Amino acid sequence: ATPTSIMAGSGRAAELGILFKSGEHLETTHQIDEVVLDKTGTVTKGKPELTDILPFEMDEKKFFSLIGSAEKESEHPIAGAIVVGVKGRGAQLQTPDEFTAIPGEGVRAHVFTKEVLIGTRRLMKRYDIDGSEAEETIRSLEDEGKTAMFVAVDRQVAGVIAVADTVKESSKEAIQQLQQMGLQVSLLTGDNERTAQAIAREVGISAVIAEVLPEQKATEVKKLQSAGHRIAMVGDGINDAPALVTADIGMAMGTGTDIAMEAADITLMRGDLRSVADAIRTSKKTVGNIQ
Ligand code: ADP
Ligand code: MG
Repeated sequence: ATPTSIMAGSGRAAELGILFKSGEHLETTHQIDEVVLDKTGTVTKGKPELTDILPFEMDEKKFFSLIGSAEKESEHPIAGAIVVGVKGRGAQLQTPDEFTAIPGEGVRAHVFTKEVLIGTRRLMKRYDIDGSEAEETIRSLEDEGKTAMFVAVDRQVAGVIAVADTVKESSKEAIQQLQQMGLQVSLLTGDNERTAQAIAREVGISAVIAEVLPEQKATEVKKLQSAGHRIAMVGDGINDAPALVTADIGMAMGTGTDIAMEAADITLMRGDLRSVADAIRTSKKTVGNIQ
């Protein structure tokens, strides 16, 4: 494309809240054939809310303060939802004596002389805890699109909690637009398979890559590339940064972390997925102008 058409294209894009890092990206974006979407904060609002607190036998109040205290030091959005949720239900929280975040799996904390583990099946497995008693409850919550977590106290499953994150209003329409443009759309997430499938169904995505550990998102993008695809990755989190760099085109939500924006080739200032199709169309137009 000529410098003039690139200037015009960048200007048009900027009016739509789409910031291309360079003219080169504006010229190559139209070549992608698959769009990989991060789930949390990209397809969904990324503001989970505590929806279910289900202790098996423990007194509710005690359960509330155990889980709230265990999550108090975690920076994960799920932890924020749990803390706000139990405080709203009147729980008193304590700073844990010991706290460890296990990325992509959950947390481990010592609270009120007890060891509390909150997180995924994989976390339970890691500590050799039999989670079968909670499995049915967990599954039905996951089928509703919620992120359900096991709670183990002193290595015994003591209950289940779940948070829910709502899909952004424009996500479904945005995904439809991409599919109508002939692009394959996939969902990539650290969340569990069932929850991911439920959210995917809600927005019309059929390809789901779930339970991906934070450092493996880029590996998944590479796999799709070796299958011959040109990938645009769309994400918002620190976790997404390596995948944004690896993808042929990385797009960061302007509503997300600075690290994602630095890693990306394009920033979507409106935090709206419809901007993905707009970015591709702008690229097509820009290149079309000189062909
Ligand atoms: P996402 O890609 O959805 O942001 P992560 O890779 O950060 O997810 O985490 C994957 C899963 O690990 C979460 O869905 C949740 O089940 C569990 N997890 C992560 N952090 C926490 C936490 N602070 N408390 C409980 N569970 C957690
Ligand atoms: Mg995210």
